[in-house]
Amino acid sequence: MAEQLQLSLFDFQDDYLPTKAKKNNAGKLLKWSYSKRSLLEQCLRKYYYNHYGGNKRTAKEEPLKEQLAVLKNLTNRYLAAGIILHDLIRKYIGQMQKGKIISLDYLLQQAKYRYRQQLGYAYSRKDKAIEIYYGFDNLDELIIETENKLLLAITNFVESFTFNTFRRFFSKPESLVEKNISIKTNFFSSGGKLDFAYIDNDKLVIVDWKLGGSVESQDTLQLMSYAYFASEELNHIPAKIELHQAHLAPDRVSSFEIGEHEIFRTKNRIIQDLEKMNRVHDYGQKGISQAFTPCGQSRVCQLCPFQEVCPKE
Ligand code: SF4
Repeated sequence: MAEQLQLSLFDFQDDYLPTKAKKNNAGKLLKWSYSKRSLLEQCLRKYYYNHYGGNKRTAKEEPLKEQLAVLKNLTNRYLAAGIILHDLIRKYIGQMQKGKIISLDYLLQQAKYRYRQQLGYAYSRKDKAIEIYYGFDNLDELIIETENKLLLAITNFVESFTFNTFRRFFSKPESLVEKNISIKTNFFSSGGKLDFAYIDNDKLVIVDWKLGGSVESQDTLQLMSYAYFASEELNHIPAKIELHQAHLAPDRVSSFEIGEHEIFRTKNRIIQDLEKMNRVHDYGQKGISQAFTPCGQSRVCQLCPFQEVCPKE
């Protein structure tokens, strides 16, 4: 973990200094992560259910606590596929670093087995995945569609020419795989995980594995935050960091350039997110769910585990 950093006035110009993040029940500063801020942006009520209502250590007054805690554990097809993909990639690269090769057949067979098991699809369980719990009409079609995407992503990861540049660094023992990286300042703490990173000449190359996605649909904050954390924790100047998103199923790579300006913007976006988290934190801890407005967007609600308790209409 990075040393405690003292932010200077130069870091926060324009008469703007961040408010110190509030503390959670464990007495630690509220921590920024990309997934947490995405939830906050997506739906405030879902953010409450996830971080307070369904959390046994806080919001003790929440009357639906038990039910929320069960719903919070439901997965979905995208989440399950993403977790399995990252897990198998970690194993594959880890074995290559030891001079061993895992066959593509084995990876595909593992992916299929684990995907169906995690969703509860293999043994018709209703308490595992949102799609089954809420009885989606076209269940089989949806599950198989994402499963095929997962299998294609793994095949491309192992075989596609598109990812050759990254593959050259898989076997290097110094390459980083799923490296936790974080920053703690006097005002806030934040962190993430680098899927894959290596040094190529004097550059730090960071690769984020994606099941799908495209260049057009991207929010680059996640990648930029990795560059920010790496510039601080791994001590690399931004101009010497390369960022790539490897879209495995679509067989494409998106690459991004960064500089001091992007790092400064990222830092400020993190601080703005933390200020939003700060503002709602006391309501969350007291279990005042009404302070968290449901987004009510059918596209978002459809894959939300909390739809049976949410007063979204
Ligand atoms: S059902 Fe919709 S509005 Fe309610 S918490 Fe979930 S995403 Fe938010």
